[in-house]
Amino acid sequence: MTVRTRFAPSPTGMLHIGGVRTALFCWLYARRHGGVFILRVEDTDRERSTDEAVQVILDGMEWLGLKSDEGPYYQTRRMDRYRATLEKLLAESKAYRCYCSKDELDEMRKAQMARKEKPRYDGRCRERTEPRAGVEPVIRFRNPLDGVVEVGDVIHGRVTFQNRELDDLIIARADGSPTYNFCVVVDDMDMAITHVIRGDDHLNNTPRQINMLQALGAAPPAYAHLPMILGPDGAKLSKRHGAVSVLEYREQGYLPEALLNYLARLGWSHGDQEVFSQDEMTGLFDLAQVNKSAAAINPDKLNWLNQQHMLRADLQRLAVELQGQLQRLGVQAPDLVQLQGIVAIQRERAKTLVEMARASRFFFAAPDMYEDKAVAKHIKSETPALLQQFRDRLHALTAWEAPAIHQALEGLCAEAGVGLGKLAQPVRIAVSGGSVSPPIDATLALLGREATLARLDVALAHFGSGAQ
Ligand code: GLU
Repeated sequence: MTVRTRFAPSPTGMLHIGGVRTALFCWLYARRHGGVFILRVEDTDRERSTDEAVQVILDGMEWLGLKSDEGPYYQTRRMDRYRATLEKLLAESKAYRCYCSKDELDEMRKAQMARKEKPRYDGRCRERTEPRAGVEPVIRFRNPLDGVVEVGDVIHGRVTFQNRELDDLIIARADGSPTYNFCVVVDDMDMAITHVIRGDDHLNNTPRQINMLQALGAAPPAYAHLPMILGPDGAKLSKRHGAVSVLEYREQGYLPEALLNYLARLGWSHGDQEVFSQDEMTGLFDLAQVNKSAAAINPDKLNWLNQQHMLRADLQRLAVELQGQLQRLGVQAPDLVQLQGIVAIQRERAKTLVEMARASRFFFAAPDMYEDKAVAKHIKSETPALLQQFRDRLHALTAWEAPAIHQALEGLCAEAGVGLGKLAQPVRIAVSGGSVSPPIDATLALLGREATLARLDVALAHFGSGAQ
């Protein structure tokens, strides 16, 4: 049997990391078993669905590399199929038209509550054969009256539901439009889904869906209901914690493989391994190792993983990413070879590409001010003379490369009898405006001779007179 999974987002809100984790697990499971991964957009709620949300799903899945083998299917394009299936159920008496008015239903509910019963439709139209004048009927599924439905959930184990707790679900509204649970059932059947992997907020829909599948003559798939993702404080995931469009993670400078690694580890584990390549994940993933309990997000861990993946990523690719992030800061950085060099020395100290871009801005624009604190700490009365000598030695260098620059720095400090920091820090301030940068020799090598000398000259003009 070929494994067939589907990710079935509703485009009523922006795809966020909760949805992405579901998509990832569906995708991983299909990849692991040489199966088929299907994308299905559940857009039947026309009022709440937006084109923008659909686009975020498509762009997000593409950015993350969660390529579907089939789809995207759109439920709104399958209305004829749902209508035909409704007719079939009606013809077989597995569904019926319900003519109850709103007032009647309200009264029913009130009476049930007064008797301290759970409000539910009591099935009074089950046997009705005559239409009621002036009432557009809804269609209800004729749920079995007794017996149990067993959901053999891969994650939760066996969950049993009593049929008498389930009332006859409305499967088409008075205007003829099919309802959500019905469309899901028809789709899962038509798309021959073997494993339904979704959030555990859908666990309660499952017995009804199983009953409907059986009424349609289809064998129910296997189910795996994933635990919720919570905010870092253990509360419901909010916008502040990541319930934002997944594309914001791209904007914030996260690599897709890092986000996927992070989400895979939210609920799934393989020993105590933390960093997984895509191949490792697809090779190792198993639903059986998914936790039952909800997992809280941990932004520090995401940052750590992002850095781990930046350290493993291809330099050329990161250079292009950094170029894009710099552009967003208004910095043009056309030289991709230079950018590769910058990535190579910055990725050990940046957690995200945004952080890297901010810390690399100085390569492309001379500082327009020097940080007060850094100046107070590192610019002393003897500094300008030292800087001047260093500038002259750099000027005389034949090869503008890190080892030669390092030698010049070390040689001068040894001759002057001062520690490296006494010169390196003022040079940092001169070229970057502050006292934090990658190793100074590599920094100057990447900055280039011309820019380095020019910035040292500006600093000398500034500090030459003003230093204490
Ligand atoms: N469309 C549903 C949602 O976005 C998922 C339904 C399902 O996976 O069965 O929550």
